[in-house]
Amino acid sequence: MMATIFTALQGVQERIADACLRNHRESSGVVLLAVSKTFPSSDIRALYLTGQRNFGENYVQELIEKHAALSDCKALVWHFIGPLQSNKTRSVAELADWVHSIDRLKVVERLSAQRPEHLPDLNVCIQINVSGEVSKSGISPDECLELASKICQLPRIKLRGLMCIPEASRDAVHLASQFKILRNLQSQLMSHDITLDVLSMGMSSDLEIAISEGSTLVRIGTALFGSRTTKPSDTPPN
Ligand SMILES: *Cc1c(COP(=O)(O)O)cnc(C)c1O
Repeated sequence: MMATIFTALQGVQERIADACLRNHRESSGVVLLAVSKTFPSSDIRALYLTGQRNFGENYVQELIEKHAALSDCKALVWHFIGPLQSNKTRSVAELADWVHSIDRLKVVERLSAQRPEHLPDLNVCIQINVSGEVSKSGISPDECLELASKICQLPRIKLRGLMCIPEASRDAVHLASQFKILRNLQSQLMSHDITLDVLSMGMSSDLEIAISEGSTLVRIGTALFGSRTTKPSDTPPN
């Protein structure tokens, strides 16, 4: 079973390297975030021991449990990528290195207030709803500048980038056009002196398109760990 994970990791690393090559980019410019939600700490540890450092979780309870189980893995970088309710921010402020799913000022204000003094600033990305689907989290692109400006004022928070989950599609052009929205927003913010170095976009099925549109971090679950059959038993979706 571990052999499967290692083969999968190699396969994903090759897909990233190939996509970078085709787009004349350095593969060091694309971070692989292993999305380990619903999979056990032992899988994370196995990948960690091969040198994989960045792991993503969607549920606060899972983050708490896995963080405790892997506290000896000192170089492990935890990314919280799921919807975050304002009454659950404290654990994330204490345990995560990154939060990708910021879509409300209130949530990031709480993270700022609750980030422990002894830890480095919490890295955050604003989640943008690039498809306009009502079911999707994230703010609309035209709200981004205002939220970004406010986040930049908050202590103990470092605004690093933008994140999106596009509308699923087999149409590469449709996917690319959604990823382009993130890149254009990044330029728009830049013209207002807000410099972001991360575009968190691309998942198992579309990482090549995301990289061709400028992704600097791909969030990969299924292609590494296999398909998710269960939700964490004691955790409602949050
Ligand atoms: C689950 C999840 C992923 C991983 O998706 P796969 O298609 O399994 O690679 C990426 N980003 C977010 C926000 C997720 O919730």
